[in-house]
Amino acid sequence: MFGKAIHWFRQDLRLSDNPALSEANLHSEVFPIYILDNHASETENIGAASQWWLHHSLTKLDQQLGGKLSIFVGDPGKILTALVKRNEITHVFWNRCYEPWRVSRDKKIKELLEKQGTFVQTKNGSLLWEPWRVLKKDGSPYKVFTPFYKRACQDTDPPRQPLTAVDIRKSKKDVETLSVDSLNLLPKTRWYDQIEALWNPGERGAKKALNSFLSCGLAGYQLGRDFPVRENISKLSPHLHFGELSPNEVWYSESREGILNCSSDDGVLFCRQLIWREFSYNLLYFFKDLPEENFKSKFDRFPWVVNQNHLKSWKQGNTGIPFIDAGMRELWQTGHMHNRVRMIAASFLVKNLLIDWREGQKWFWDCLLDADLASNSAGWQWVAGSGVDAAPYFRIFNPVSQGKKYDLEGLYIRKFVPELSQMPNEFIHDPWNAPPEILEKANVILGQNYSFPIVDLKESRQRALSAYSQIKGAKNL
Ligand SMILES: Cc1cc2nc3c(=O)[nH]c(=O)nc-3n(C[C@H](O)[C@H](O)[C@H](O)COP(=O)(O)OP(=O)(O)OC[C@H]3O[C@@H](n4cnc5c(N)ncnc54)[C@H](O)[C@@H]3O)c2cc1C
Repeated sequence: MFGKAIHWFRQDLRLSDNPALSEANLHSEVFPIYILDNHASETENIGAASQWWLHHSLTKLDQQLGGKLSIFVGDPGKILTALVKRNEITHVFWNRCYEPWRVSRDKKIKELLEKQGTFVQTKNGSLLWEPWRVLKKDGSPYKVFTPFYKRACQDTDPPRQPLTAVDIRKSKKDVETLSVDSLNLLPKTRWYDQIEALWNPGERGAKKALNSFLSCGLAGYQLGRDFPVRENISKLSPHLHFGELSPNEVWYSESREGILNCSSDDGVLFCRQLIWREFSYNLLYFFKDLPEENFKSKFDRFPWVVNQNHLKSWKQGNTGIPFIDAGMRELWQTGHMHNRVRMIAASFLVKNLLIDWREGQKWFWDCLLDADLASNSAGWQWVAGSGVDAAPYFRIFNPVSQGKKYDLEGLYIRKFVPELSQMPNEFIHDPWNAPPEILEKANVILGQNYSFPIVDLKESRQRALSAYSQIKGAKNL
């Protein structure tokens, strides 16, 4: 096909199974570009850990493209119109994103480009099914996961098969491009050494992570996924978030029929998690206030407590509750937190400390490598009880019994809370209950080298239940 095209990379930083890029590549020349949109407001800007990831992902993408990725900072509408003029572009392609601010911004950009006579085409490159494909029979969106799951898997066409990688020989670079380094995504202080050693951003790293999960983690996923020291989780979430891997590539990674149709329960459960991701995107697409507003409006009257000391202890992993502290330190040190621990650490913040879920959401947004507006907002509202299909508020995780169940020998705690590494299994989850001689033998001095619990678990649970009773009878408006 003649004419020059732009492919605008966004959350699809890959060459394979990239529907918009494949379409652009039908043209005689393709300008692959990335724009850091610094016009987005604070909440829309990405957090520090994600910036680290983005820096490396863009560097790898540029290498894959033979150095032909053009990079810009600023208002995408203005940058695209200027690029189109400068290079006599006829067609612009991108894969759709579903964050509300992006949906409205992209709509305006599309109109702007079309007004000046440029052909614009957008594709689905990041979801198995677009939000408007999985609806109730009456056309309304689902608010409960299980029927959504059934509808997606049983009554909807299977996800599209992945496309092959594009040939990059038609790629062209714009003369005014910046370098990845000049985006200044890497922080000034090197807090990320440990993160750097653990993660491999980019499409190749994503494929490696998928293959290693398929060969070593998937068998046993059902039993192992709740245990934070077991190697049964995929850790694909940042790769999926940045689109270094499409969910379709994961879905069809085991066979042409799709992972859901494989006979193992592990595969089925793993697919269920991918569909939780789809469900979160559906919620965000149809309920645009999800990141800011309680889905259940009765929570607007919830008596949240403002306590900067407690919030700081939670963020720093110094609550004196070992399982929570291990999770919060895992987050800080590795940019990831195991899903079960996310639920427990989040529950501790909103229920035992009575701190507004939006505070936790902000911290996760800054620290998680997989920080994702849909999954993070849905996850926090689920835990807080304010969301759709949420965990009931009165179900309050006990971090000690959860720890004993999912980290019996305290291996996770020993790894991230080294002050407690010599505690015997019996007391590692509740050192405040240990006799003095046990603490002494383990070199633990509560209040000195490890904190006393910042709240009493039993009392704070009661306080949470009575706070909830104040809004229990209220109707959602
Ligand atoms: C409070 C809270 C905040 C969260 N914030 C995020 C976030 O910002 N970004 C994010 O990707 N996930 C978030 N999650 C969901 C979940 O914890 C992570 O997706 C998961 O831990 C990622 O690890 P994994 O890739 O090894 O998951 P696996 O167990 O290997 O699952 C495979 C994939 O399925 C998807 N997935 C799994 N569980 C969920 C879920 N509950 N909701 C949505 N998608 C899911 C992810 O894309 C994941 O990579 C949050 C959960 C909670 C409770």
